[in-house]
Amino acid sequence: MDNPFLKIYRLSQLATSYKLKLLRPLGPPCQFGIEATNRCNFKCHFCPQSNNDHKNVRPVGNLSIEDFRSFIKNIKYTNCGNSNISICLDGEPTLNKNFPEFIKISNEEGFFPRFSSNGMLLTRELVDKLSPYKYLASVDFSSDSSVFDNIRGYKGSFYSVLKNVKYLVSTATTARQIKIEIVDITHFPNNPGNANSLVKMKRLFSADDLPSNIAFWSREFHNFCGHLDTRYDRLISRRYKLCPYPWSSFSVTWDGNVVACCRDTAGRTILGNVFETSIRDIWYEEKYVSLRKALVEKRVNEVAACSECDMPYSSSSGRWRIKYLLSSLLRR
Ligand code: SF4
Ligand code: SF4
Repeated sequence: MDNPFLKIYRLSQLATSYKLKLLRPLGPPCQFGIEATNRCNFKCHFCPQSNNDHKNVRPVGNLSIEDFRSFIKNIKYTNCGNSNISICLDGEPTLNKNFPEFIKISNEEGFFPRFSSNGMLLTRELVDKLSPYKYLASVDFSSDSSVFDNIRGYKGSFYSVLKNVKYLVSTATTARQIKIEIVDITHFPNNPGNANSLVKMKRLFSADDLPSNIAFWSREFHNFCGHLDTRYDRLISRRYKLCPYPWSSFSVTWDGNVVACCRDTAGRTILGNVFETSIRDIWYEEKYVSLRKALVEKRVNEVAACSECDMPYSSSSGRWRIKYLLSSLLRR
């Protein structure tokens, strides 16, 4: 499905639409994500899942195989030229028993799926089951067992995840169609004692000898639409920048609701439902247009998902350049 010329054309359409602040973009979205489940076996401090009432903010459930197929068909219909799909939003995707089937279907339909997992259930058995397929797995990790167990809210999880990730890494050294990202979360919440944490984490995997399909980096934390209030308060004084997501991405919950972006895990701003309406229609209908208009006019307070989000005040200015937007989308 990946057509490089169409992809570049579509990306330039979106970049132009964002730059000109068009309320109805010239082309369809190019980043698609759907949630496998909003259940999770962890309670990470930085995530709204750690709130006891999070399970009550929207229905808890699992994406079905039929609905996943229907979403894939819906994406193809947009003719977006992009074959990447993210199979996660809120929750831990491997908790859905259909998860291996989602990866298989994605490949059969010409898509390259990516997912973020906390690694706890990414066992040897599951990794072997996924071995015939292409995918990108991103796992948050740390070199410090007590920091990791504390942040993730699951005592003893460090050694289980280490064992699983080591096996995953060992398979990716020969199965080069698989990509792995191991993301350091040690520095949350800005612990200065962990300055060399990324280097220490790489040592756990003998990273110097690993092929280029296995990457390591440090996570840049955002405030999860206000879940981390202190960070938001600190950043709010910075200059407002227009958030690019409503011009590029399309995020869907397990039951088909389209939310403002991948950070809106509580489903505060619902823009339509993909199991009832086509992606193209939702992308151009009034709710999406109103979201873009509010952000263009700096009325973030009027949008439930965006009102406490730190994205428009982020300090990483490079993120806002068109060149960055295009290159990051082309990499996916
Ligand atoms: S960050 Fe991921 S693993 Fe952690 S609680 Fe949230 S959904 Fe679960
Ligand atoms: S401002 Fe925040 S919540 Fe709103 S679309 Fe952008 S990233 Fe999402």
